[in-house]
Amino acid sequence: MSAKSRKPEPFKPGTVPAPGELLVWKHPHHFDRWQDRPCALCKQPTPMRSHHDEPVHKVCAEAWITANPVKARQSGRFASDAQPKRSRTQA
Ligand SMILES: [Zn+2]
Repeated sequence: MSAKSRKPEPFKPGTVPAPGELLVWKHPHHFDRWQDRPCALCKQPTPMRSHHDEPVHKVCAEAWITANPVKARQSGRFASDAQPKRSRTQA
């Protein structure tokens, strides 16, 4: 283990955004720079990945949450990154 880079944030799902709100996907693991795969929702190639390694465009995931708000909350299929809770400054 070396500590040459900044402490990596855990790649964990946090809260499911409310319908119409945007996902916060800042973790580098959401972006696969090596390979595009067909989006689970629109079938177009995407480098984006959900927390479950499901290929999906962020906008498609957001649209899916808006269209399936109950399922989205129950399944946690697409969620924002877990935010380290420290102070309420601003994002
Ligand atoms: Zn898509």
